Amino acid sequence: MMKPMNIVVSMDCEPVRLLGLEGPATSGPSSYADSERFIAGFEAIAAGYGFPVSLFVHPEAALAHAPQLLEMERRGATLGLHIHPYKYDPVRWRAHFGELSADAQRAIVSECTALWQHALGQRPRYFRPGTFSANDATFQVLVDLGFVGGSCSCPGRVFPELYAVWAGAPADPHRAHAVFRQRPGTLPFANLPLSVDLSDVRDGGGHQQLWDLRPDYREADYARIAGNIVSQIARRDPLVPMVMVVSHNDNDYTNPDDRVARNLRRSLDAVVAACRSAGYEPVGATVADVCARVLASPPEVPGWVVGRASIQAGGR
Ligand SMILES: [Zn+2]
Repeated sequence: MMKPMNIVVSMDCEPVRLLGLEGPATSGPSSYADSERFIAGFEAIAAGYGFPVSLFVHPEAALAHAPQLLEMERRGATLGLHIHPYKYDPVRWRAHFGELSADAQRAIVSECTALWQHALGQRPRYFRPGTFSANDATFQVLVDLGFVGGSCSCPGRVFPELYAVWAGAPADPHRAHAVFRQRPGTLPFANLPLSVDLSDVRDGGGHQQLWDLRPDYREADYARIAGNIVSQIARRDPLVPMVMVVSHNDNDYTNPDDRVARNLRRSLDAVVAACRSAGYEPVGATVADVCARVLASPPEVPGWVVGRASIQAGGR
């Protein structure tokens, strides 16, 4: 019997581009009218595979798209909160999320939660920081504010100037650790990492990055990336196997000839094929579904070790 593989198709819903922050470093649609169409197109592509979607929504986008988002939630989508501090308020919060102290994270998440709740009539329970920028205080802050899960990590990413460093982070869904973000822990918070191909580090200029399944690439070998991700999951054989895809609301997913829309289909085709050839049945799941599965399982805390043979033999 084929084991189920949870396929999570996620999108970060950015606010419209801010004047003065234009340029390749900022993402986001140029209007909310575009954004609304792009989100609908994205949902339709995922639905073509029978996959629900999970949206991490910036507070301003929640205000702009409330009726559409609530309709999508009724159709099974998970809605969560997304924050880039400098997009929310470039004067008060000219920072990346992981650059903020615990108190400052508490303040901005509380403020954005209130706005998100005003828009959507409910508190967000799932969180993803912009560019996966986070620090060791983040998970405990999220727990304190009532969050039960999210997608906060991008294993292998080393972007120090974005305060996004996830070298050595767990690659499968896990309970977060209260004080050390790169280890599984016992917090009542399920962290769902972005799925990355751990075999192929792209290194340059003090940065490291692994290939993932995002459709935004100019060109990528999705069959190879998906094949490697799924075979690595099969080798690890985690309690809750999951493939997480990320995308953004700044591409026209209603246009079948759009490069990114085409890549999204290539990416999902590759994920489905890779699962089947590794003996998994791909089953669409939301962030809420996978978090519930993680939290329903007993915490899986790796054994404590004093040292590793490789460390003892090499550097100290
Ligand atoms: Zn973002």
